[in-house]
Amino acid sequence: MIIFNGKALAIEIKSQIAEEIKKLNKKLKLAVILVGQNPASELYVRNKEKSCKDVGIDFELIRFSENCKQNEIIKKIKELNKKSEITAILLQLPLPINFNEREIIETISPDKDVDCLTQTNFGRLALGISDFAPCTATGIIEILKANKIAMQGKRVVVVGRSALVGLPTQLLLTKNNATVTLCHSKTQKLKKITKKADILVVAIGKPKYITKKYVKKHAVVIDVGINKVDGKICGDVDFSSVKKKTHLITPVPNGVGQMTVAMLLKNILLLNLKKS
Ligand code: NDP
Repeated sequence: MIIFNGKALAIEIKSQIAEEIKKLNKKLKLAVILVGQNPASELYVRNKEKSCKDVGIDFELIRFSENCKQNEIIKKIKELNKKSEITAILLQLPLPINFNEREIIETISPDKDVDCLTQTNFGRLALGISDFAPCTATGIIEILKANKIAMQGKRVVVVGRSALVGLPTQLLLTKNNATVTLCHSKTQKLKKITKKADILVVAIGKPKYITKKYVKKHAVVIDVGINKVDGKICGDVDFSSVKKKTHLITPVPNGVGQMTVAMLLKNILLLNLKKS
């Protein structure tokens, strides 16, 4: 049984990215928009800032209070779209419920949409025109490749269908010739479906929901979930009981989350390459 070490792979990827950034004759800069004071979002944004600085990418945080008007955020994004020194824009999700997330996302110029969430960029991914994809989905594919886990012909089950994680992960796995079943909260007899998976990806936001009863022997289990229970971080998979059954499992923390940040840096670089 292998416990994937996200930290080690992320360090390796980050050092390659830092080398590539040194070779550019241009500064890259990420602008992050943070609305409200969600503690998890605050932590993710701090991690993103540190990682950008580690590899030589400039970083700007733009904060809005949760009582601000949607138009103020839209106006700011339009300004950022025009600024040549800003090469990537990230809207930290989720937004507080009083905002129209889709409308704000669509304001981001596709050339700067580092999370691949605009209709243009997501549509290109869905149609197979582009490999540029949301960071967590790309990170999951990197984990499988780095551990020489073949995807072609494999039965893969993805639990969770969000535009940020589940849906793009399904698209990338399909592109890699896996046979993918996408499950969600209305799926009937989930256990019966996940039990058949050679590779099981879980992104539901329900602490330790997936127990060993959901998992096939020797499966690869990718746990995307980040939950806090009694002050401790845990995934959507009941790690201690499930790990014994698996060929490979990603822990939480130090699993997929590390790769998401590494892939964010890669996406910042890719946006620049797409333009030049
Ligand atoms: P969303 O809330 O947007 O989506 C959750 C998905 O899970 C939905 O499709 C929902 O179904 C499905 N779902 C919820 N409960 C169940 C259930 N009991 N059985 C089957 N499906 C269920 O969450 P995200 O996709 O944004 O995030 C998921 C988790 O991943 C969270 O814990 C989040 O914190 C974490 N995350 C981790 C990242 C990382 O880097 N490691 C990056 C991004 C997120 P339905 O559509 O029917 O409502």
